[in-house]
Amino acid sequence: MRLSAYFLPTLKDTPTEAQILSHRLMLRAGMIRQTSAGIYAWLPLGHRVLRKIEQIVRSEQDAAGAVELLMPTVQSAELWRASGRYEDYGKEMLRIRDRHDREMLYGPTAEEVITDIVKGTLKSYRDLPRTLYNIQWKFRDEIRPRFGVMRGREFLMKDAYSFDLDFAGAKRAYQKMFLAYLRTFARMGIRAIPMKADSGPIGGDMSHEFIILADTGESAVFCDRRWVEWDVLASAPAYDQDLEPFFADATGIYAATEEKHNPDTCPLPAEQLVTARGIEVGHIFYFGTKYSKPLGAVVAGPDGNPVTLEMGSYGIGVSRLVAAVIEASHDDAGIIWPESVAPFKVGLINLKSGDAACDKVCADLYDVLRTAQVEVLYDDREERPGVKFADMDLIGLPWQLVVGPRGLKAGTVELKNRATGERLELSQDSALERLTS
Ligand code: ATP
Ligand code: MG
Repeated sequence: MRLSAYFLPTLKDTPTEAQILSHRLMLRAGMIRQTSAGIYAWLPLGHRVLRKIEQIVRSEQDAAGAVELLMPTVQSAELWRASGRYEDYGKEMLRIRDRHDREMLYGPTAEEVITDIVKGTLKSYRDLPRTLYNIQWKFRDEIRPRFGVMRGREFLMKDAYSFDLDFAGAKRAYQKMFLAYLRTFARMGIRAIPMKADSGPIGGDMSHEFIILADTGESAVFCDRRWVEWDVLASAPAYDQDLEPFFADATGIYAATEEKHNPDTCPLPAEQLVTARGIEVGHIFYFGTKYSKPLGAVVAGPDGNPVTLEMGSYGIGVSRLVAAVIEASHDDAGIIWPESVAPFKVGLINLKSGDAACDKVCADLYDVLRTAQVEVLYDDREERPGVKFADMDLIGLPWQLVVGPRGLKAGTVELKNRATGERLELSQDSALERLTS
């Protein structure tokens, strides 16, 4: 992509309305634009990151055996009356009336819809287990939308729902998602710690929030120091293996949200306890027959008798993750994208646009990179080098390839690693080799 033909409204000044760093950086880097309170348009650069994150989430859901579908954003109130949640959900639900005066709503979550879809389609125990997911916009009329896309009103969520015959099956589905979540977040370069969370009236230990530690987090969290150092995935099994030992190990290491943590019963010695703030990026939840029972979702069991489906639901805040990754990876100059979610891999900087030699070399490098399927943003604008460097640091692409008249005379270009700051003077060929290998 040539920057001269792109849409990247970067800001020099720090927007005063933004209270946390990721929000400021997303506005300054031209990633999002607020259109109403808590509602954002994703500008091209932000949109690319959102799609990258979505794709990682999708591929790990698929690997764990979940099956993708797409449910509508607008739902009927009727289903929510049947589950008993229509009145309970309160003011966070955006209620809508259609032209026939029918009550509709913009879905804040989709347990009712998915249960209604599988009802009568999953007919027998032989149709189980099944986990279905979608990646769809949700709306929650948050009392205090803030921190940009971190707590928006409209946000993109991956929500999966598992259906099983019995508790043992539901537990296995839960453990698969538990592992899939660890893999998902690790691929984005962030450490999300599964923390015991409030599991409501059902109780048990089958509710975990996945939380990344960050000073700007909205909730207080408590965990064993080992979580901060431990590479939990080093010993992770494959999905078709017995997941119980891994799950027992991982959940045996203390980590709890504020609601669950009790200083009086916490098993950790003080020096082993990390007290921090955290951002919730995912939440997994077992809830038995809470929705399947009122909605009548049953299958025929092995003996022919009807069995009410055992369910769990599993959310990931896809749009929140864009901000969370930034909170975890930045410096004074701007964002530092992990390569897996970067909007482009390389920023090609022409220090002297209009100079025949620089233009020619840049055009060649740009072509070679694109042919090799390397995502490259070419800053071909007629701007001062200082502006180009500052913008490129701000938007945080992993690599900067810098072409200027002085280097060209010596036969070199400069390759800068955004994360480490390391700069190398290289021939064009060896720079290209590093970027395409
Ligand atoms: P929170 O405690 O932050 O309000 P929640 O418990 O209501 O979140 P869930 O219902 O578990 O959220 O939703 C699944 C995921 O969706 C959350 O883990 C979070 O990452 C994301 N999410 C929830 N609410 C928002 C929001 N207002 N803006 C952006 N992402 C959100
Ligand atoms: Mg939650």
